[in-house]
Amino acid sequence: MAIRQDDNQPNRRFGVINLVLIGVGVLLLLSSFLPNQGMQQVPRVPYSLFINQVDADSVKRAFITQDQIRYELATPVEGQPSVLATTPIFDMELPHRLEQHGVEFAAAPPKRPSFITTALSWIVPPLIFIVVLQFFARRAMGGGGSQGALSFTKSKAKVYVPDEQSRVTFADVAGVDEAKAELTEIVDFLKKPERYTAIGARIPKGVLLVGPPGTGKTLLSKAVAGEADVPFFIISGSEFVELFVGAGAARVRDLFEQAKKKAPCIIFIDELDAIGKSRSGSMGVVGGNDEREQTLNQLLTEMDGFASKDKPVIVLAATNQPETLDAALLRPGRFDRQVLVDRPDLSGRLTILEIYGKKVKLAEGVDLQKIAAATSGFAGADLANLVNEAALLAARAYRTTVEQADLNEAIERVVAGLEKRSRVLQDDEKRVVAYHEVGHAIVGHLMPGGSKVAKISIVPRGMSALGYTLQLPTEDRFLNSREDLQGQIATLLGGRSAEEVVFGKITTGAANDLQRATDIAEQMVGTFGMSDTLGPLAYDKQGGGRFLGGTNNPRRVVSDATAQAIDKEVRALVDNGHNTALGILNSNRDLLETIAQRILEKEVIEGDELKELLSSSHLPEAVAA
Ligand code: ADP
Ligand code: ZN
Repeated sequence: MAIRQDDNQPNRRFGVINLVLIGVGVLLLLSSFLPNQGMQQVPRVPYSLFINQVDADSVKRAFITQDQIRYELATPVEGQPSVLATTPIFDMELPHRLEQHGVEFAAAPPKRPSFITTALSWIVPPLIFIVVLQFFARRAMGGGGSQGALSFTKSKAKVYVPDEQSRVTFADVAGVDEAKAELTEIVDFLKKPERYTAIGARIPKGVLLVGPPGTGKTLLSKAVAGEADVPFFIISGSEFVELFVGAGAARVRDLFEQAKKKAPCIIFIDELDAIGKSRSGSMGVVGGNDEREQTLNQLLTEMDGFASKDKPVIVLAATNQPETLDAALLRPGRFDRQVLVDRPDLSGRLTILEIYGKKVKLAEGVDLQKIAAATSGFAGADLANLVNEAALLAARAYRTTVEQADLNEAIERVVAGLEKRSRVLQDDEKRVVAYHEVGHAIVGHLMPGGSKVAKISIVPRGMSALGYTLQLPTEDRFLNSREDLQGQIATLLGGRSAEEVVFGKITTGAANDLQRATDIAEQMVGTFGMSDTLGPLAYDKQGGGRFLGGTNNPRRVVSDATAQAIDKEVRALVDNGHNTALGILNSNRDLLETIAQRILEKEVIEGDELKELLSSSHLPEAVAA
């Protein structure tokens, strides 16, 4: 690259530009004067006067150009100008008239641009162009952060150099032990690259962290940097994709250039999918996405390029949609290692709660184990949020420590969003919601499936739930039996069934329940091979993102008859659950009434009271048998 000496001499730079601009201005001024040279200023008169004078035969000769007519009077008056000028108007009669009155007239030849004008018109525009271009190029290249709006080719990566206070280590990350174990090796690569390169081993360049949002992928990467004591560059994939085509690629280049200067170091790219989406997959998109493709290509080039033996730059990237990534990214030498960072299990959640519990003042005897048991499916970020919510609740109540009740309340807040008492239901709506939720509760209580009903509420929460029935799993379950899943379907249909039993009509409130029930039924048939008629075949192909809860697996190629049979079987499973729910609610009609009335008074039923009420429920004979 050319030498950049004067980045920090704005005065000089502006001096040059000003000089050029002034020069151009002077030349332009000159050029506007030049054609007028040799024509002294003469008094201008109205055209009508000129015509009158012609008609009166007092004009001797006229010289007509495009923008003026200069004429000489035949009998000049002493002390007054003899040569006058007027502005011509479009007048076809003029030559005729002049001829009639014996005026000697001539027209100027079409104006030939003077040499100077021609030269200027050739030289000035390119000159301006070059000056402007240079100006922008310098600004874009210039160092220092204060360069303003035109620094769009610079990467916006933030750099952290670990110091004693802000250092994140593996001890700060919990519940993702397998991921930690894999990354420990990366720490080793960064610390002692010689040990590996000496025997000819290739140090990995890219590691892809795959997992749902909030599970600690960023935190883990920071911990790798902290453990290895190397600088950490962090940037989000979406920051590469900009309005200007080419800007993303330039930023990638800049990022790697900076990183190489600080090697050994780590580059962390969050949301890799923003740039790394499969190129073939985007074919159908209108207009394509050149910018993203260029950025991706640049990233691939950079990853192939930097192979410094003793100063490794390791790229960690995070995504929650690995299946959408371009295959080229996953090839050897690129992101060939993939580490799963999943939601924590029971013991993982407990450790995370303990980490964050230490940061607030917990009351004596707070049982985090219970909280961990009640937060199945929470990611690390949710748990951190939960502890903070609990502390806020305690502070709001002017308590000095966080109590169990605060944590319990915080769970619900995190689960269902903040309480929204302001959202008022009409009385008849409230009745429907009450019976609907009690329906879920009774069926859920009687059905197998591992969850016990902990709370029924008809206080609207969050954005969409009008009421809810909170079921807490007693333990983490990794395996569900067919009966469990059937029980879950029946429970989901319990709400709607209650509406049918009590009101004889149905509302739109069950849409989400039906969605989930149908999903489960489809998975039972298509994924888990739980149908007797269709046998233990997986009709759905496993998509990459199963652990993210994705259910939209593409179906294997099946015959029409099989497809029909699958649909029929799914239908039968849901119908079956519906009938079970109806049966249970019909034979517990009185209980349904009692609990619904109670909840309409209190809005919330939970704990022992709920347990007591539900304990008097019973299965109908047909199902029990
Ligand atoms: P991701 O990058 O996977 O979306 P983050 O690393 O940004 O998630 O996590 C957000 C925050 O949640 C972290 O800063 C941390 O406070 C907390 N957190 C998430 N996962 C964990 C974990 N496994 N252990 C401890 N804290 C966690
Ligand atoms: Zn429901």
